[in-house]
Amino acid sequence: MVKVTAISLSRISVRGVVQGVGFRPFVYQLAIRHNLHGWVCNTSEDVKIEAEGNKQDIEFFINDLREQAPPMSYIEEIEVTAGRPEDYAKFEIRPSVPEAGKYQLISPDIATCPDCLREIFSPSDRRYRYPFTNCTNCGPRFTIINDIPYDRPNTTMKSFQMCPECQKEYNNPFDRRFHAQPNACPVCGPQLELRIAQGVRVDTDDIIKKVGELLKNGKIIAIKGLGGFLLACDATSDKAVNLLRLRKNRPAKPLAIMVATIEEAERHCEVDEDEAKLLTSPGSPIVLMKWKTESNIFQSVAPGLKYLGVMLPYTPLHHLLLKEAGLPLVMTSGNLSEEPIARDNDEALKRLSGIADYFLMHNRDIYARYDDSVMIVEQGIPRFTRRARGYAPYPIRLPFKSRQILGCGAEEKNTFCLTRDNYAFVSQHIGDMENLETLEHYVNTITLYKKLFRIEPQIIACDMHPEYLPTKYAKELAEQEKIKLVSVQHHHAHIASCLADNGVKGPVIGVSFDGTGYGTDGNIWGGEFMVADFKKFDRPAYLEYLPLAGGAQAIRKPYRTAIGYLLALGIGLDKNLPLFKYIKKSELEIIKEQVAKGVNAPLTSSMGRLFDAVTALTGIRGIIEYEAQAAIDLEMLAYIAADENGSYPFALEQHDSTSVIRLHDLFTAIIKDVLNKTSEAVIAARFHNTVVHMILETCQDISAKTSIIKVALSGGVFQNRLLVRKTLPLLESAGFEVYTHRQVPCNDGGISLGQVVIANTNEV
Ligand code: ZN
Ligand code: ZN
Ligand code: FE
Repeated sequence: MVKVTAISLSRISVRGVVQGVGFRPFVYQLAIRHNLHGWVCNTSEDVKIEAEGNKQDIEFFINDLREQAPPMSYIEEIEVTAGRPEDYAKFEIRPSVPEAGKYQLISPDIATCPDCLREIFSPSDRRYRYPFTNCTNCGPRFTIINDIPYDRPNTTMKSFQMCPECQKEYNNPFDRRFHAQPNACPVCGPQLELRIAQGVRVDTDDIIKKVGELLKNGKIIAIKGLGGFLLACDATSDKAVNLLRLRKNRPAKPLAIMVATIEEAERHCEVDEDEAKLLTSPGSPIVLMKWKTESNIFQSVAPGLKYLGVMLPYTPLHHLLLKEAGLPLVMTSGNLSEEPIARDNDEALKRLSGIADYFLMHNRDIYARYDDSVMIVEQGIPRFTRRARGYAPYPIRLPFKSRQILGCGAEEKNTFCLTRDNYAFVSQHIGDMENLETLEHYVNTITLYKKLFRIEPQIIACDMHPEYLPTKYAKELAEQEKIKLVSVQHHHAHIASCLADNGVKGPVIGVSFDGTGYGTDGNIWGGEFMVADFKKFDRPAYLEYLPLAGGAQAIRKPYRTAIGYLLALGIGLDKNLPLFKYIKKSELEIIKEQVAKGVNAPLTSSMGRLFDAVTALTGIRGIIEYEAQAAIDLEMLAYIAADENGSYPFALEQHDSTSVIRLHDLFTAIIKDVLNKTSEAVIAARFHNTVVHMILETCQDISAKTSIIKVALSGGVFQNRLLVRKTLPLLESAGFEVYTHRQVPCNDGGISLGQVVIANTNEV
C-alpha cells in the first residue's frame, strides 16, 4: 500500500553571504534528509531553491536552512512563494546562472576552521603542514576576488590548476571542499619561499622550521598573509622589539601580538568570556585586553599601556609558525609608518628591505590590501577600533533603501562607503590619507568595490574640510563625472554614523567628541553637542573656543595647547607648574604673541585637545609621538585612581538657544591640584569624572529644551574605555536611551557611513 500524501512545491530565495561558503551542498544534503526533490542554484543575487515534497518536510527544511546554515554564511533574508509541483525525480545542484547588473554579498576572509586545523597537524593527512589549506568554511575570500561571480577564474587562484584529488573534492557535494574556490594541496597549490632582505633565495628543505629558528634568534621576518605582509619578531625579546621599532620608525605606538592558543592569551591578559569568544571567532580580530603584570611580553610592545592587542593565528601558515617558534610574536603591518600595508612580493622586498631580515613569501597573489581588525569588548559589546580583515566588505544594513552614493570619508583612519538598496558597504580600513601610496590604494579599492557590488554612484558625499585629500578627490570626481556633490559636516557625520550603525533614524542628542573636524563657522570643532537626524543638525552646546597656539604644531606639542588655553582664559602662568619644563623662554614669547594677536592660533572647541592640555598641565607628557597619546596617558593614569569620585567645576553658560561650556574654573582647579602635588592619577580620574558630568548635565539641559531622550555617543574620544564605562550607565540611569557604535568604529573610520546616510536624506 502506498500512502498518498499531498505534494507541494516551494520556491525559495536566500539572500546574504550564501555563495562560496558551502551553501549549496548544505542545501543539497538538507533536502535529501527531508525527502525533498527539486534543485538549488546560485544566481547573481541569491541562492534559488525549488523544494518539492510533503508540506511539513518543506517547513522543517526552511527552518533548518536558517538554524543550521554553514559557519561562514550569513542569511539576510529568506523569501518563500508557493508553486505548482513539477514532479521532480530527485534533488540536484544546478549550474550557476549569471545575470547582468545583479550582485551578491561577498564573504570576508575567515580564520582557519577546526577541521582544516586538524588536517595540517595530522601527519597522515595529505595536507599535513600545508600552509594554504582551506575549505568552504574558512580561508581567503575577499582578498583574492577580482570580480563576481565568485568562481576560481575570478580569483588569484586561477593560475593554479587543481590536481585530480583536489578536483575530486571540489566536485563532490558531500565533501567539505565542494566548490571551495581556493582549494589547494601541496601537489597543486601555492608554495612558500624564503628570501633574505637583498632578495636572494634561502635554500632549505623546511622553510617553516627555518623561520621558527630565525624568530627564536631575534630576527625580524616579513610574512605574507591574507591581505599583505606582516612584520613578525619575538615579542618577549627587548632587542628584537626595539630593533623593529627603530627600523619601522615607530617609536611608541603600540604593537599587536599573536599567540598560539587562547590559553597562551590568558597567560598575558585577563580574558573574559566575551573576549575569548571574539578572539576565537571566524573574524579572529586583534582584541585589546587587560595586560597582566606577570606577562613576559616586553613592555615596550605597548609602552605605558594597560591594554595589550592580542590575536590568534588565522591562517594555517600562522598556526604552523607559532607552533614552530613556540613564542608569542609581535605581528604588525608590513609598512613604514603611515604607508599602506605592502601587498606584492616585489613591492615588499623593495619597501620593507630596510626593516625585515628575511621575507617569508608565497606565490598566491593578493588583490585587496586588508589590515588586521582591532576590537575591544566594552560594556559587554564587541566594538571596532579598526574594521578590516574578517569583517569588510560585509555591509551595514540601512534602515531605508538608499540611492547609489559614494561617501569619501575623512582624512585619518579613512574608510569610504558605497551604498545601494538597503546596504552600506563600508570599506576596510584604508589608512591615514597623507601620502600618494595611500591615495592610490584608496582609489583602487573604490574601483574594486564599485565593480564587485555593481555600484555607479549618483551622489558623492565628502567632508567639509577643504584640505582633506578625500574631499579634494570627491570634488574632482564630481566635476569630471558631473555628479552631485554633498559636503557633510564632520561631527554631524559622526552622529549620523552612530544612528545608522544602530538602525535608528533620530532625532537624537548627539555627543560628538574628537580631535579635529571642520566646523561650519571655519573653526575647528570637536566638543560638540548636537540635535541631529539624517537630514540636519543643530548645535545647542559646545566647548568654548580656545586658541591652538601654532595650529598643527600644538597638536604635536600639547604643552603649547595648554599654555595657549591658560593665556586665553586669563589664568596666570605659575612658574612652578611642571608644564614649563617643556618650553624655552623664546617659544613662550611666540605663543603669547600668537594668542594675543590671533595669528596662527586657530580657535577650537575640541575635546581631544582638552585632554591634551590637561595631560601637559600635569607634566605627564608635553610632546606626543602618535595620535591621541596624551589622552591615552590620562586614561591609563585614571585607572590607578579608580575609586576617585571627585571632579572639577565648569560652567554651562546660556546664550539664547546655545550653551557654551566654560573652562576657566576647570583649569584653575586642576592647577591648584597640580601645585598641591595631588597625584597625577587622582587628577586624571577627576578630569574623567568632569567630562562625564559635562555630558550628563549638557544632555539634560538639551533634553529639557527639546524633550529628546535619545543620546548618541560618537567621535574618536569615545575610544576612551573609561569614559564609555562611566558615561553609559550614568546616562541610562538618568533615563536616556543611549546609542554607541557596534558595527563601525566611533573614530573617523565611521565617518563615511555618516556621510552617505546624510547625503541620501538630503537629496530626495
Ligand atoms: Zn576549513
Ligand atoms: Zn591538489
Ligand atoms: Fe572625527
